[in-house]
Amino acid sequence: MPDLMQKIVKKCEECGVAYFTFDEEGSVCPKCQDRNYFGCIRRYIDDEEPTVEELSTELRVPKIRIYRWIRDGRIQYIPGTGMTGIFCEECGIPIEFGSVCIKCAKNARKKKRKKKKIAI
Ligand SMILES: [Zn+2]
Ligand SMILES: [Zn+2]
Repeated sequence: MPDLMQKIVKKCEECGVAYFTFDEEGSVCPKCQDRNYFGCIRRYIDDEEPTVEELSTELRVPKIRIYRWIRDGRIQYIPGTGMTGIFCEECGIPIEFGSVCIKCAKNARKKKRKKKKIAI
């Protein structure tokens, strides 16, 4: 029987919670890993003030995911020192070009359509 995928129960070194893992090496639970990960990113942003472009290259994650982190509040940007320098006028997320993000542009279009319907 191959035991490659055998789950191991471990106790997290950071928070003491028991968790399942396939990883024999790790010693912190996914929650703490996540927190540590974003802790590192936050520190990096504070120190280096990278643009989204640079952060994406550095972390090897797509830019769209970084924008999602910003929107979810997992990482923060300080307005003015801003990562892309351009922010959506509607929701404030960093955007690459234009004045609103794709989502808000879509919403605006939807709203327009709704208004028309109501008018009729
Ligand atoms: Zn933990
Ligand atoms: Zn927006």
